[in-house]
Amino acid sequence: MAKKNNQEKPTFNSYWIYGLIISILIGMTMFSGDSKWQNLEKTDISNFEKFLLNGDVEEVVVINKNLARVTINQNAIVKSEHNSIKSKNFLGQENIEGPHYQFEVGNLELFQRKLEKAEENGIVFRYEFQTIENRWMDMIISFIPIIIIIAVWIFLMRRMSGSSGGAGSQIFNIGKSKARLFDQNTNVRTSFKDVAGLEGAKEEVQEIVDFLKNPQKYTKLGGEIPKGALLIGLPGTGKTLLAKAVAGEAKVPFFSLSGSDFVEMFVGVGASRVRDLFKQAKDKSPAIIFIDEIDAIGRARGKNNFTGSNDERENTLNQLLTEMDGFDTNTNVIVVAATNRADVLDKALMRAGRFDRQIYVDLPDLNERKEIFQVHLKPLKVTKTLDVDFLAKQTPGFSGADIANVCNESALIAARKSRKSVGKQDFLDAVDRIVGGLEKKNKIISQEEKKTIAFHEAGHATVSWLLKYAAPLVKVTIVPRGQSLGAAWYLPEERLILRTEQMLDEMCAALGGRAAEKIMFNKISTGALSDLEKVTRQARAMVSVYGLNSALGNITYHDSSGQSDYTFTKPYSEKTAQKIDKEISAIIERQYKRACEILKKNKANLIKLAERLLEKEVIFKDDLTTILGKRSFETEKNSNSSTKARKS
Ligand code: ADP
Ligand code: ZN
Repeated sequence: MAKKNNQEKPTFNSYWIYGLIISILIGMTMFSGDSKWQNLEKTDISNFEKFLLNGDVEEVVVINKNLARVTINQNAIVKSEHNSIKSKNFLGQENIEGPHYQFEVGNLELFQRKLEKAEENGIVFRYEFQTIENRWMDMIISFIPIIIIIAVWIFLMRRMSGSSGGAGSQIFNIGKSKARLFDQNTNVRTSFKDVAGLEGAKEEVQEIVDFLKNPQKYTKLGGEIPKGALLIGLPGTGKTLLAKAVAGEAKVPFFSLSGSDFVEMFVGVGASRVRDLFKQAKDKSPAIIFIDEIDAIGRARGKNNFTGSNDERENTLNQLLTEMDGFDTNTNVIVVAATNRADVLDKALMRAGRFDRQIYVDLPDLNERKEIFQVHLKPLKVTKTLDVDFLAKQTPGFSGADIANVCNESALIAARKSRKSVGKQDFLDAVDRIVGGLEKKNKIISQEEKKTIAFHEAGHATVSWLLKYAAPLVKVTIVPRGQSLGAAWYLPEERLILRTEQMLDEMCAALGGRAAEKIMFNKISTGALSDLEKVTRQARAMVSVYGLNSALGNITYHDSSGQSDYTFTKPYSEKTAQKIDKEISAIIERQYKRACEILKKNKANLIKLAERLLEKEVIFKDDLTTILGKRSFETEKNSNSSTKARKS
């Protein structure tokens, strides 16, 4: 992601809540009684009885059935036993007027009876019962638990939302989307010129621009404008850049956020954020919503859900699907999402009317890297003799973001050395530094590894080229992509049934990678894992499923109904099991030997092919034809079937 645009959010300070609570607490102690009575001399019921019998008492007021306030009459107040009330007098003034004492009455009935008895005995005094109501206080007291809960909640919210955003604004915005908006007001204008390479992907998104610019052109004919496109590729390959360029070219607002922005600890927040996002986008339509790292919410539902902790994410995903289904195609909101884990995404996301367009954004090859260098070298002051080709050659496996990083780093290195312009050595230093930083991620390939991969892929290419039934090749690359370090792309024929020789040829081609490593370096590597998996699966199927093996005959141990569980109980005897294992390994060994033979015979061509791969990183059918000659048994009808990658 590029720059953050720090919009000034209206910061709403929540400290007033804390202040409110504190003032309420203070108020409670202040108003819990009349402050004038606070300083009354405390006494107890037996003292009071003494005063009463002595005739000292002028008046008793029982407040709220438990507190008695006593006023001593003017004649008695001079008595020495009442000295304490005089000295206790606050502010040093004479407290002539009552009340003078207070005490807790305890049992009200008993107390009342005592007063009545004294009255009967002819003692002169007044008494009354008062209820002082303090509704305001009661109300506040009943609110205190709520206020405390709110305070705790605010505290937690602020904790969780961490440093982001304005201080107290989170609580009021929790259900709002966190999307950043780029429109005419923010001067971020990205165009396709800023995106180097990625020709195929650019072409596909170009169409989205057209949809947004001239929707009538498509809707007039009854067509429906797609609602979503999914950009699939490793981090830093320019997915965000591409989406921004779409928005820039179409001149529409661009809402950008990350999948993880939806996810919060609170139930329902994600879904409400999705709703809010789509509402905002619709208000500004035509618009583009860009969701980076959509796998944060888009992971397949209902897996590993025994803890129930995924419910919130599922709700969010469901809401996203609902929104995408809900808006009409004429609302002109297109959702572009990016991920590098398309394999974990929920299949529902890819259904028609959602992200039905999938655009692959690969790591750049040599030429593309050169173009990316040219984009990022523009703002730098470089020496005139700088060879961009050389730089591109030095950076296999680098993503666009890595290259941008190299350019920036090299300028810093040159500046540190107080140079006038950035030179070759600065770039090499920057590459070293970045490779050092990236090596852990296992993305950058050493020269030796690169050579191994090139021969491995060349091996696949050569063997499959020379075998009649192996699928014809369209493209071989040693640009790492996803889990694989290189790939050969085939045009598989659409065959519904496979004959034995076809299966064997496919297996032979799949083993060509390892065979080439063996022949060239006399050592084999772990790089062939997926090849071996595939071959083993195929061989096992030949023997135990399709009955294509003469040693076992026309028998299958497969149950199409899927009702028998053969995981623990095999449908064959131990002896047959051994036979099956033996046959499987014999088939594979035979094909491996065959691949080795083919490659030994064509070693010169294999080397030529590998060298071309090392040089260009991607080679196409034409290169293969030049090196290996035309495939005599090629048929034309293959050309309209889809390509498939064989990873290795
Ligand atoms: P992603 O979204 O795929 O992780 P970004 O689009 O955020 O990657 O790319 C990060 C940065 O890398 C971009 O801002 C840009 O500077 C640089 N970059 C990546 N790919 C390209 C490219 N094809 N052309 C030019 N710059 C690129
Ligand atoms: Zn392979």
